[in-house]
Amino acid sequence: MYASSTPALLVGPCATPADVDDLRAYGFDVCDQMGLSVVVATSDDVDVRDFSAVYVYEPTGRVAPVAALLEGEAYLHGVPVVRQQSVFQAAACDACAQVQTIATVRNEYGEVFCVDCRGLAAGCAHCGDDTVTRPVDVDGAWAPICRPCVEVAERATGRTYAETVA
Ligand SMILES: [Zn+2]
Ligand SMILES: [Zn+2]
Repeated sequence: MYASSTPALLVGPCATPADVDDLRAYGFDVCDQMGLSVVVATSDDVDVRDFSAVYVYEPTGRVAPVAALLEGEAYLHGVPVVRQQSVFQAAACDACAQVQTIATVRNEYGEVFCVDCRGLAAGCAHCGDDTVTRPVDVDGAWAPICRPCVEVAERATGRTYAETVA
């Protein structure tokens, strides 16, 4: 069903419920800024080979055993590891103003464009349309889903899907 892109795995501190909330908040940003489905690892019971990349969240001074293990497995299996950039590299997209906190990309002129404005977003994880997407909580993972697909899902299930307005 979510076939348009292989999800990324997010690893980081997950020992306490507060850690997991913090990690999920970072996962929202990865989904929002990179246009990727993001599975948040809360234990080492995942296979890194199922993911397109492993994003590492490292709040200052925290060593997370689960994250260290999964990051090591990613290196072993050749899965790309993406660490958060320095806070000093954060910059807003010159076209849409979305602030890039995860991995700012500058072109040869020093201009910043987000994944969407570079035309590189994979689109809605459900229908594949290249439309505006928002991170939506799908069974605990964040998926970039377009508004029409969210509405269809809500009508079908009678649930309201958590969606944070950027
Ligand atoms: Zn943009
Ligand atoms: Zn859609």
